[in-house]
Amino acid sequence: MTDATTPHGCLFCKIVKREIPAQIVYEDSACIAFRDINPQAPVHVLVVPRKHFASPGEADESDEPLLGHLHRVAAQIAQQHHLTAGHRVVMNTGATAGQTVFHVHLHVLGGRSFTWPPG
Ligand code: 5GP
Ligand code: ZN
Repeated sequence: MTDATTPHGCLFCKIVKREIPAQIVYEDSACIAFRDINPQAPVHVLVVPRKHFASPGEADESDEPLLGHLHRVAAQIAQQHHLTAGHRVVMNTGATAGQTVFHVHLHVLGGRSFTWPPG
């Protein structure tokens, strides 16, 4: 049975529902954060809302607190990992930007230096 809020087949919805295991580092009623399976830096954590959106463009005004919450959780994760020298928060949006999982998420990357502009 399909459910509009948890689209059939969405990998991150499955992780949120604990149908697929992940190394969870933080969770609350609105979001879950877990280690990326293919880390691009010594610290690479994904912050994922429990609510499914393919991209921020699908969010409406009532979702603004949730989108802000994701950024605050990202900052807390950086602090917990002692990324005092710096870290990068990334949201890839759309295929040409590198998005591969179409459920909104923030990447929290740290533990090395990053170049700008990104590749
Ligand atoms: P995107 O490319 O959409 O910005 O980010 C998706 C991220 O999800 C990628 O960095 C990828 O390594 C990660 N990923 C894909 N499949 C899994 C999985 O099964 N478990 C975890 N923990 N991360 C995954
Ligand atoms: Zn989803």
